[in-house]
Order: sequence, then C-alpha cells, then structure tokens
Amino acid sequence: MVNRSSSLSDDVIVDMATGEPLPPLLHDLAERARQAQALAYAPYSRFPVGAALRSSDGRVFVGANVENASYGLTVCAERTAMYQAVLAGARQVAAIAICTNLSPPAAPCGMCRQTLAEFAEEAQIVLLSPSGQAQVTTLSTLLPQAFRPSALIATVEAKDDHERGE
Ligand SMILES: [Zn+2]
Repeated sequence: MVNRSSSLSDDVIVDMATGEPLPPLLHDLAERARQAQALAYAPYSRFPVGAALRSSDGRVFVGANVENASYGLTVCAERTAMYQAVLAGARQVAAIAICTNLSPPAAPCGMCRQTLAEFAEEAQIVLLSPSGQAQVTTLSTLLPQAFRPSALIATVEAKDDHERGE
C-alpha cells in the first residue's frame, strides 16, 4: 500500500494572490523545498526551514537551516542553498522556494534578502506554508533599494580609470 501522505507530489499548492495552482516549474521547486525542510538542523529554534533554488542553467540546489549552540553561527536555509549553487558554478538564480511551518508563509530574514540581492535579483521567490499556500514575490518587493553589486563595480571602475589617468 502506498502511503500517499508521505508523497507531496500530488498536493496542490495555491498562489494566494490568484487562487490558481502554481505553474509546474514552481510547483516542483516548492516540493523540493518542502523535502529539504526535513533536513534542517534546528534543535534550538525548532523552526525548520527548507529552500530550493533553480539556477538559470536549470539545475536545482536545496538547503536547510543549520543551527549551532553558539546561536550566532546559525545559517539559514536560503543561504545554505545559495552557497551550494555558487560553489557549483551557478551564480544566477531563476527561482527560489522557501518552506517554513508558518501560515501565512514566512518571508526571508534580512541577511538572506541581501544574499539574494547578490545572485537572485530577478528571481521569482515563492514562500510556502505547510497548508499549501504560496506567496509569489520578488526581491524588489522584499528588499527595495537594495545595496547591489553594481555599486561596488562602479566604484572599482572609477578607481581603475583614475589610476590610468583617464
Ligand atoms: Zn535568513
């Protein structure tokens, strides 16, 4: 007998804004985030988080939060997924799904928003609740007027021009 409750693939995940099911690519990513949530090491907060991102080249990377007895060393799910992607050479995120046990869905912390500004500026961001609700949003909504890599690149180029006497 198949235990369907252990398989999330048949669950409908609804976009809270439209009432429509998520499109297949986002649905798949959401399922991967839900599965990754089970990997969390969160004995202190008991707030497991799973994340799954799809890079622009189509690969999927997952992450979960990893806590530490020294609380400040805790790393969020979004960043463990993002760092795996970067180390595999994937530096552009097309979409990221993040799953917590909160309903309505929780949004990423400020540190993760800034990390997403580095690699996921144009990404679709899907926030998930355990009941199958999804909020689809963007970084510009979550982190308006972000400090972006382009600010430093402009500074470096201006310095280079100055040193060349231009
Ligand atoms: Zn975070």
